[in-house]
Amino acid sequence: MPPGRSPVSARSAQREPAILPAGPRAVVSLRGVNRLKAGHVWIYRSDVTSAVDAGVGAVVSVYDERGRFFGSALYSTSSQIALRMLSDRPVTDLAALIRERVRQAIAYREPLVRDTDAYRVVFSEADFLPGLIVDRYNDILSLQILTQAMDRQDVRDALLAELSESFRSSTIAERVEPHILELEQLPPRESSLLMGEKTNTIFSMNGVRFHCDIREGQKTGAFLDQRENYAAAASYARGDALDVFCYQGAFALHLANFCPRVTAVDSSRPALEVADKNALLNQREIEWIEANAFDLLKDYSAAGRQYDTIVLDPPAFAKSRKNLETALRGYKELNLRALKMLRPGGVLVTCSCSYHVSEQEFLEVVADAAHDARRTLRILERRGQAKDHPVLLNVPETSYLKCGIISVT
Ligand code: SAH
Repeated sequence: MPPGRSPVSARSAQREPAILPAGPRAVVSLRGVNRLKAGHVWIYRSDVTSAVDAGVGAVVSVYDERGRFFGSALYSTSSQIALRMLSDRPVTDLAALIRERVRQAIAYREPLVRDTDAYRVVFSEADFLPGLIVDRYNDILSLQILTQAMDRQDVRDALLAELSESFRSSTIAERVEPHILELEQLPPRESSLLMGEKTNTIFSMNGVRFHCDIREGQKTGAFLDQRENYAAAASYARGDALDVFCYQGAFALHLANFCPRVTAVDSSRPALEVADKNALLNQREIEWIEANAFDLLKDYSAAGRQYDTIVLDPPAFAKSRKNLETALRGYKELNLRALKMLRPGGVLVTCSCSYHVSEQEFLEVVADAAHDARRTLRILERRGQAKDHPVLLNVPETSYLKCGIISVT
């Protein structure tokens, strides 16, 4: 790909390739075409007017209704997202293109990723590899396949070959999300090792060390999207700290470098067991509490507990736009209780990973909570996901994490 050119560029879509590609093809409605022209890369099934020879995970040539060629896309026979654009050119060798894009994803991160041996190597659409996630935990790679095309045997072989060559990793694991296999009508299977036998390692972010067991945990193992926010939060943290929704303790352990007392809460016992091992690894003492965060915050605020630093990093409350209202109520309650427990001059680190809640909606909820708590907030930093989770500007779905670091008066 020449520098400065996007692999899927609507501007050049008008240009006909000299020879129109043979093979599977799809015709896209005007609404679908307009979406592509706006820079998006998804075409919904309702915008596919016809599809010829388009099998499971096929590379299809995309045309508008007047027969103009728009590029090549990956096809899914079952997902509502029928087409994911791959290139504005004909694609003849998918496996070779995938290997090249993986190399480009690795190169993109070289100047960006610092102080860590754990980061996202490939972030799906944002790395022009729709349907593929690859995370690195030191010497173990973990991949997730989200679409029919990425599950093709030729693609899987190409991925393994490229990743093992690029990283000389001893282990490559595949992490399976059963509901995604169902959506894509892919054969059910378990998470497993695709290469090598190593299942445990130790990785580090910002000088803090973590245990990783590739067979366990949520997501692909850790919340790598928060990596830069851990360091940012720590740079403001002081005094008594509370990490709410702590999982394996990443915020808590970062805060412990600056805060003499850190308490951390999560409802998952397995997560807290790893958190405790992580504390030992870093020679830190942290009080881990297994509890429902809503109940704990209520009890602690009723008991008059006070903190200088509070982190709120709940799971995605809004899984779809439908439960937005409930989600916003959840965020409001958490932020309200936290604000009431912060001493003057305290720091609130408040996060939302719900794509369906915009940054503006989220900050409005926090402002609303501040009003009820009679506190004045000043934003120190408005942050998002770490740079190894790039945001593709015209594909809003690639941007989901919000992290406000706020000074509370
Ligand atoms: N801050 C963590 C990520 C948190 S993910 C990190 O940076 O690594 C959200 C966490 O919330 C998960 O660990 C999950 O177990 C926990 N969780 C979900 N619902 C909860 C509840 N009601 N009370 C406490 N913890 C909860």
